[in-house]
Amino acid sequence: MSELYDEIELQEDIDAEQLQGGPKLERSALSSGWQLIRPLLQTHRWPMFWLGAAVIVDTAFNASFPIIERLVVDEGLVPHNWSVVAKVIVYIVFAAVAVTVIGFVMDLLNARISSSVVADLRNTLLKHLGRLPTSYFHKTEGGEILSRFSTDVMAVEEGLTAIIPWIVLPGLEVIYTTILMFAFNVRLALVGILVFPVNLLASRYFSTRSFALGFEKRRREARLMSSLAETIAAQPVIRAFGMLNKFQHRYMLLGQQWRSTAYAFDLQSALVERASYAGVYLVHALVFGIGAYWTFEGVISLGTLVAFEAMFLTMGDAISHVTEATPMLAEALGGMKQLRSFMTERTAQLDLPGAIDLATPKHSIMFQNVTFKYPESKFQLGPIDLDVRVGKRLAIVGRSGSGKSTLTQLLLRSETPSTGTISIDGHDIRAVTLSSLRQLIAPVFQETFLFHDTLRANIALGREEIRSTEITRAARAAEIDDYILSLPQKYETIVGERGARLSGGQRQRIAIARALLSNPAILVLDEASSALDPQTETKIRATIRRVAGKRTLISITHRLESIKDYDHIVVMDRGRIKEQGNHRSLLAQRGLYFEFWNKQRNS
Ligand code: ADP
Ligand code: MG
Repeated sequence: MSELYDEIELQEDIDAEQLQGGPKLERSALSSGWQLIRPLLQTHRWPMFWLGAAVIVDTAFNASFPIIERLVVDEGLVPHNWSVVAKVIVYIVFAAVAVTVIGFVMDLLNARISSSVVADLRNTLLKHLGRLPTSYFHKTEGGEILSRFSTDVMAVEEGLTAIIPWIVLPGLEVIYTTILMFAFNVRLALVGILVFPVNLLASRYFSTRSFALGFEKRRREARLMSSLAETIAAQPVIRAFGMLNKFQHRYMLLGQQWRSTAYAFDLQSALVERASYAGVYLVHALVFGIGAYWTFEGVISLGTLVAFEAMFLTMGDAISHVTEATPMLAEALGGMKQLRSFMTERTAQLDLPGAIDLATPKHSIMFQNVTFKYPESKFQLGPIDLDVRVGKRLAIVGRSGSGKSTLTQLLLRSETPSTGTISIDGHDIRAVTLSSLRQLIAPVFQETFLFHDTLRANIALGREEIRSTEITRAARAAEIDDYILSLPQKYETIVGERGARLSGGQRQRIAIARALLSNPAILVLDEASSALDPQTETKIRATIRRVAGKRTLISITHRLESIKDYDHIVVMDRGRIKEQGNHRSLLAQRGLYFEFWNKQRNS
């Protein structure tokens, strides 16, 4: 637990540094956000085209109002000309209808594009998740991955839906009002545009910080989510060891950190808005004063002043709108940046172009000069040279941490070797399709994950082509069929959350049934029975022996007694093969295996 607290404190320092780097963050977030969204937007070219057209027409209508206003004051109201006033009323009614219809079309297209972009984004993320190497899940907390899919995606969604109404439309408003102000009166316009530097100065400091804080808030949300996910997953341990208080304390600490960031972010965002409005009000007083004076002097007409006023206020509003939306944009960019870095995680599971389907092996599985290193670990595997004859039984033994599991991860292509090749009957496993590889090699691990679903579904694991008789056959071979049939719901029995309703041995038998279902040529057992009590272990071992039959068996185990008659035994030590041979020849070598054997004998 103390480690957790250390980490929290450490994080505090990093945050302080990060906040200094505000503007840099902004730029890199912009470019990575764009890279993430661009391919998704490309599929919506036409809706985007129409959206753009609607935005332009809408803006044109809005821009026409101040011109009309000047006209109605100078030529309608002042000279009491009813016909001008009547025409203007007709135009306003027409424009109101048009703007409403166009606005609706805009909303429609905007909602359509952003919702499907976000839906596509989720699918892209999940697809990517499926291609990540197993090691990614070891180094990343589950909750953090969850928050990619929830809070980050939500922030992107909010940002996308806000771009048109909060950034694009007000942006265009700023542009056309500026142009019109100059068209009406250059000198008054020069006073009016003072609003830009005033606004920029006032909000710049706040918005830079709010960008950095937006990103930080998102990161802290992810940490909260992580902690919660772990607390949920670890409930059995937490209850058993009375750790609830500690976990609650950790959650509270993280919650406090989140609160301070969220508070700073909200305050900073509000200040951005306030500062912006204050700037607009100040300049407005100036514009109105000077404008009134010039109207009295006859430099400009009353209509010009009224229209100018309206435009200036529209522009001020628009500028404030944009500044107000920056924090939201900051959050969206923060989310996009996180998603982008997730998307650029290296993948391990892609099929090469031209990959072939692997046929049932006849000769051998070869490791040639294979080395491997986990990205964040000092552990170095290999070079490994190993020749596994098809149909034989191979055992891998060695101390824990010697690289046995890593070897099987490489064979299953969950990880990719740094150098060297693994080949089956001469085909590099990287050049074959993953699906055919998975068809041929079936693993059984120490831990069996059971889904909250029926026993049938838990054995079939989504392989829909599989018939019910095959499931029964696999269950019978794994010697779990009798038990399943003794249950009231038989194969339709729902296995409780995390499989809590099955014993360890039964779970392991489900895992064996799963493995047998594809009738694999190669069975890989990674300490498949070592977590069980000796009696159950012996029974499972007997089952494995029976189902192995003519298959190639690769078994990692600590129980040397059970592999005495294996064809070949490999002894791993610190990532390398230290010794190999059969039981008898290894004992004769009086090396590591001999040492292990004697230790187990005497215990
Ligand atoms: P064994 O199965 O023999 O106990 P492993 O192959 O699981 O050993 O692990 C070998 C070494 O690699 C260990 O030092 C372990 O800490 C490290 N290791 C295992 N998995 C990962 C991973 N996903 N990321 C980083 N290091 C890992
Ligand atoms: Mg292991």
